[in-house]
Amino acid sequence: MKTKDKKKVWFVTGTQHLYGPEVLNQVSAHAKEIAQTLNESLSSPVEIVFQPILKTPDEITSLFITAGADSQCIGIITWMHTFSPSKMWINGLKRLQVPLCHLNTQFNKEIPWDSIDMDFMNLNQSAHGDREFAHLLTRMKIRRKTIVGFWKDISVQKSISNWTRAALGWSELQEIKVARIGDNMREVAVTEGDKVQAQIQFGFSVNGYDTDDITKIIETLNTSEVEALLKVYEDSYEVDSELKQGGKKRESLIAAAKIELGLKKFLDQGGFKAFTDTFENLGTFEQLPGIAVQRLMEQGYGFAGEGDWKTAALVRAFKVMSQNTPGGTSFMEDYTYHFGNSSQVLGAHMLEICPSISENKPRCEIHPLGIGGKKDPVRLVFDGKAGEAINVSLIDLGTRFRLILNEVNAIPFKNKLPKLPVARVLWTPQPSLEIAASAWMKAGGSHHTVYSQALETEVIQDFATLAGVELICIDKNTKLYELEQTLNANEAVF
Ligand code: MN
Repeated sequence: MKTKDKKKVWFVTGTQHLYGPEVLNQVSAHAKEIAQTLNESLSSPVEIVFQPILKTPDEITSLFITAGADSQCIGIITWMHTFSPSKMWINGLKRLQVPLCHLNTQFNKEIPWDSIDMDFMNLNQSAHGDREFAHLLTRMKIRRKTIVGFWKDISVQKSISNWTRAALGWSELQEIKVARIGDNMREVAVTEGDKVQAQIQFGFSVNGYDTDDITKIIETLNTSEVEALLKVYEDSYEVDSELKQGGKKRESLIAAAKIELGLKKFLDQGGFKAFTDTFENLGTFEQLPGIAVQRLMEQGYGFAGEGDWKTAALVRAFKVMSQNTPGGTSFMEDYTYHFGNSSQVLGAHMLEICPSISENKPRCEIHPLGIGGKKDPVRLVFDGKAGEAINVSLIDLGTRFRLILNEVNAIPFKNKLPKLPVARVLWTPQPSLEIAASAWMKAGGSHHTVYSQALETEVIQDFATLAGVELICIDKNTKLYELEQTLNANEAVF
């Protein structure tokens, strides 16, 4: 998955001049050690960079100005090792441009009961230094994550790691260009929205293109690049005999490969990291892109069907946030229910599910689509991996955006589903299908989601906080009436 250079999070330590050089040298050495340890131990793909300790209002202001101008700096972690009177921070924080994580930790894990004296107390003051700092953050209404705990603890490091992933997703969204190939599926509401407001709030831009833009590129492809991709298909998947060389539908596989090559060149030439298409607007395409879209998603491009640009941008953000994690991420749709003792949802789409969530080696097949009036599309068919996952939807309520998340457990298929020619996942929503789906629909969630086995709920919570967007979480503790009250309260807050 392609991203630019490694992004950086700055580790910023507050103190003041009062303590004298000896203490300040210790503060600096401790901060450096924490920053280095976090940099080495976090699973996150960002680099944690130590910054010289801050002792004066001018140093603080200067740091925030520099951070805001540095395109590689995607977030700031702050920690007050000692007391650092927070009026010193006002002018700096007014220039804060990136997400903030407030880490309330202490260099020493335990109190040295036998040797503790006032020197120790004066050095290890984050218990009140961080309170002074947090008071100002609250007063200035600065959104941030707050983490309390010992910096070597796994749970603290995991929380920091999750926040850096959220910051990474936010930074990526500021840059994403979404290509909307064709318009919205006719008459559909939830995939629509205010693209101008989305760009103001989230940063990503959405613009329209025509399938003809890709067809022009397809016409310039040479035989060897098409042949090379067909070989990749044959090496990577169980290819249906009729699609193999000499098979009666070989031409369809060649057409699918050309669409993939054309789409990829179009996206790369235009700097697009996400795209949509629509089966009603296929124009010059011979078939709905199936395998092409599936493989491009696996390479890290965001995608959603039917012109759903919000979900396409979100899929891309998830792909970036989930670098270096096991588990995949895909565009998804709640398709069919299985009611029973533990009711389930069969998730799928007409074709476009990402093979990163596949349990088995995908089969490459061709079947009629039934809608759209085009030739039969080639697609990858597989079962989704079992395990915990989240489904996340971004909707436009007209006056604001809302994120909705449901924790689900994907379960293994007991049946073969021999006549279902699409990739699929089977899951049980938390706390149950009946409550989860009621809550989801009360919140106005889309049938389209980002499905991920790579990210925890905490990442999305951090993302919502730093983005300033409402998030409704549906998990094992969800009670419908409480959820309704939350929705009512949020009407007022947002
Ligand atoms: Mn759909």
